[in-house]
Amino acid sequence: MRRLPGRWPAARLLMAAWLTLMLAACGDSDEPEVPASAEPPAVEVAGPATAVIQQDDAYYDELRARWFALEHAERSAAASPGSHNADPEQAPLSAEPEPVSELPVAVLEPESTPAIGIIIDDLGHSLSRGRRIIALPAPVALAILPHTQAAQLLASEAAVAGKTVILHQPMENGAALAIGPGGLYADMDRAKLEQTLQANLNNFVPIQGVNNHMGSRLTSDRQAMDWVMQVLAARGLFFIDSRTSAATQAAFAAEAAGVRHLSRDVFLDNERTFEAIDAAFQHALTLARKQGSALIIGHPYPQTLEYLEQRLPELQREEGVKVVSLEALLARKYRN
Ligand SMILES: [Zn+2]
Repeated sequence: MRRLPGRWPAARLLMAAWLTLMLAACGDSDEPEVPASAEPPAVEVAGPATAVIQQDDAYYDELRARWFALEHAERSAAASPGSHNADPEQAPLSAEPEPVSELPVAVLEPESTPAIGIIIDDLGHSLSRGRRIIALPAPVALAILPHTQAAQLLASEAAVAGKTVILHQPMENGAALAIGPGGLYADMDRAKLEQTLQANLNNFVPIQGVNNHMGSRLTSDRQAMDWVMQVLAARGLFFIDSRTSAATQAAFAAEAAGVRHLSRDVFLDNERTFEAIDAAFQHALTLARKQGSALIIGHPYPQTLEYLEQRLPELQREEGVKVVSLEALLARKYRN
């Protein structure tokens, strides 16, 4: 069928996106672009200049591992003082009610198939790794950091592929670690916090929801969480609490503001080995069978990507559990 110019705006947008993609791909590589000994960027200073800083993927992998070690050390200490269990996934969560276990599975889903949702955080620095998430044969969501070099391109390509895109909103942690451009801090007044959040939400499109990057300090600040949720409510966005602190107030604030929300059940790759990732994934499957659904957050480590690429194609046939979109998980929770 002949395409009529002007009658196929979506197709033309798609073509433009692909052209941009091809051009950008020339500069995207897994090869390190700076020496391993290079100093990290001054990511705590927000601004357009930081968005174009080139760093290799290994640098971000190491930085992320340090974030996790510190955030989880704090969370484990807060959640279970004296616990001998070194695995944060096994540490008890707070007394917050589990949102997904209130109704029997048979009522939630006609086919009563246990479901998992998967979010990959910290995207936006590497086009190639983001593309591997988009290419996964399941509705895995992309959580993209604001003001990163590949943010808009990944969001556009994900949308074309039918994948959910959420803003991975940097929030202050308890260890005073840099959180990158667009960060929200507990000492911000309401106007400054809203201005920063709105700028992040306007940084790329589309955005269907928000989850927190780090945030062990800010998510435990109810006032700040109320301000955040009121912005999300006005925009009709949902919130996913990454749960980097047992003291998080995010779900309560979301509830109060009428923002649909879910909480992370399992971190997939606290430890970057096949065995550890597989154990965490199995734990999520067990939770899904018990609760009806479970929500996993992972990161764009090579080991995580390889695991998902191997595991997802046959997941439903092998395990009887299916991967569903965040919207589908929310629909299960808020149906009725
Ligand atoms: Zn993150």
